[in-house]
Amino acid sequence: MDLQAIIDDIALTLAERRGEGKVADYIPELAKVDPHQFGIAVTTVDGQVFTVGDAATPFSIQSVSKVFMLTLALGKAGEGIWKRVGREPSGTAFNSIVQLEHEHGIPRNPFVNAGAIVVCDMVLAGHKPKEAIGEVLRFVRYLADDETITIDRAVAKSETETGFRNYALANFMRSFDNLHHDVDHVLGVYFHQCALSMTCRQLSRAGLFLAAQGADPISGYSVVSPKRARRINALMLTCGHYDGSGDFAYHVGLPGKSGVGGGILAIAPGKASIAVWSPGLNKVGNSALGSAALEMLATRTGWSVFGA
Ligand code: GLU
Repeated sequence: MDLQAIIDDIALTLAERRGEGKVADYIPELAKVDPHQFGIAVTTVDGQVFTVGDAATPFSIQSVSKVFMLTLALGKAGEGIWKRVGREPSGTAFNSIVQLEHEHGIPRNPFVNAGAIVVCDMVLAGHKPKEAIGEVLRFVRYLADDETITIDRAVAKSETETGFRNYALANFMRSFDNLHHDVDHVLGVYFHQCALSMTCRQLSRAGLFLAAQGADPISGYSVVSPKRARRINALMLTCGHYDGSGDFAYHVGLPGKSGVGGGILAIAPGKASIAVWSPGLNKVGNSALGSAALEMLATRTGWSVFGA
């Protein structure tokens, strides 16, 4: 299979649709991003990398970081985390508060904002916020095997100043005793993890362990057990695209996690880790062109977990 030819053709086919969708403007710093950018990077389990378009341009990975944070929290607290966060698709918007009241401050899953904020609270245990942020950054650099990855401080500041909804979610959960640290500290970690700035190439490399049963196939080091990798993939498939998760499974058929920066990390188990980026979002907050590109890629490679 000629992966380079496949992604070159996808980029060409989608070229006239560049700029489609709406850039996330509720975070002022993200509103400045040029919507015409588009990149794909595919890192295969045998270590080959294929890229096209703006795959070397850093972008704000936003909620894609929730996959790495969940991995860290599971490493720290194990399966005990599921007492404080669920594993069911939300069926509501990424920043919804309604479900929290019905379920006594327990978020539906670790990939909606409320769930990710609880996960931050877990990663924060025993740390000062700065140390927890350092731990996240070190982990992602380790996974991507790239020390140049940074956190975009302007994006983190922009969200700290305008993230009223996330403050509401955090305070609401605090009222149910489902946050154990100071709300400002937890959100400090949350906003900085969302502000991780990575290229498609770095992101696809960082996700590779999930395509290879939890071990980095290039270095040979184990990151998580095969069982844990399988479970993280299951959550990405069922919950990784908010209330668009069913549609993403229907069209793409791969575990995936999106972010409002327009990035998506998708995992083809046993085959490859794929990162796509295009800042214009569809109605539910997932990259419009990124989703289209992944559907084309899954169709042409036959990599859908549901069969070719
Ligand atoms: N930082 C964003 C927020 O909290 C993340 C949302 C996303 O990427 O889906 O609103």
